[in-house]
Amino acid sequence: MNKPVSDIKAAPMAFIDLAAQQRRIEGAIRNAIDGVLAHGQYILGPEVKALEDQLAAYCRAKHALGCSSGTDAIVIALMALDAKPGDAVFVPSFTFAATAEAVALVGATPVFVDCIAEKYNMDPGSLEMAIDMIVREGMYRPVGVIAVDMLGQPADFNRIGAIARKNGYWLIDDAAQSFGAMLDNRRVGTLATITTTSFFPAKPLGCYGDGGAMFTDDDRLAGLMRSILFHGRGADKYDNVRIGMNGRIDTIQAAILIEKLKIFDDELDKRNQVARRYCDLLRDICRVPELIEGATTTWAQFTIIVKHRDDVAAKLKAAGVPTAIYYPKPLHMQTAYKAYPAVPGGLPVSEAMAETVLSLPMHPYLDVETQDRIVAAVKAALR
Ligand SMILES: *Cc1c(COP(=O)(O)O)cnc(C)c1O
Repeated sequence: MNKPVSDIKAAPMAFIDLAAQQRRIEGAIRNAIDGVLAHGQYILGPEVKALEDQLAAYCRAKHALGCSSGTDAIVIALMALDAKPGDAVFVPSFTFAATAEAVALVGATPVFVDCIAEKYNMDPGSLEMAIDMIVREGMYRPVGVIAVDMLGQPADFNRIGAIARKNGYWLIDDAAQSFGAMLDNRRVGTLATITTTSFFPAKPLGCYGDGGAMFTDDDRLAGLMRSILFHGRGADKYDNVRIGMNGRIDTIQAAILIEKLKIFDDELDKRNQVARRYCDLLRDICRVPELIEGATTTWAQFTIIVKHRDDVAAKLKAAGVPTAIYYPKPLHMQTAYKAYPAVPGGLPVSEAMAETVLSLPMHPYLDVETQDRIVAAVKAALR
């Protein structure tokens, strides 16, 4: 049917513009996929090893292992660390469900910890209170901490790492959003006992399907994870020495990631430029993200904190500006997780954040004109 001329609009604004990235490297991606079709090694082809070597070199971790998703990466890490029923693992509540889900999947108990407003990450003081509670109650054996690098900024690994070490706990960095970020000149991938990441398409380094990786400097843990992600293999693939899973990354996804890694640093620069501009233009009218000392971020999301968030989001939608909410409900309030222990005194910061966070369009290809339109719409909505 013919539409009246007044209804014809420009292409809708993208929240994350994967199409712009694809246009930039389409030839290289198609060549990479063709290469896999030509050799036909769809499972653990040469691109998987090449990708792992490049990922390890990128973040200067001793070992990088490709796997099937960011969620499986956490499960595999927990299995290698022998997390099991009766164990308590401290996790932030203000995160994507996968962080706590992986703990529950291995039969251990997630214990929810509050976060710090504007920095979005685990609050070390809240972690210490949760540890005290679990130790005092004596129902679970506390074994480890999963810190999440929300929105792309490393958690406070200096303080959280010190708490974990003092208690003899292992530490996992759920870096699904932060691969490429740094803390004190160290890349994410080296800040914890094991680091996990996701290559879900919308993450800063994404493939064209599901994928993930684990990083560690520990040879023993690397060997265990290598075995677990291939059905607990021993000397060969029909020698099964432990319970594992099918947790491999596809060769085609590895081939795609190798091409995306080539432009990744440039994309991180562009994300930083976009974020800096957002901060400068919005700082006076709403709360913008803050970085901890010594940290860089991937700006997986650019999230502001506003009162009457749902009203602001509706106004932006009407103005043609897409937004998203990461995350509308903290995990300790979710049906699937509310029976698990949480830090005494509750999680007021996580609960307030869930009601006030609003993520604006963020990707390396966001041009200045579009960004100005977004900022103008935010200003109008907050007026
Ligand atoms: C995306 C994400 C995951 C899960 O990654 P998948 O690849 O989708 O399984 C885990 N944790 C956090 C914090 C995430 O953002």
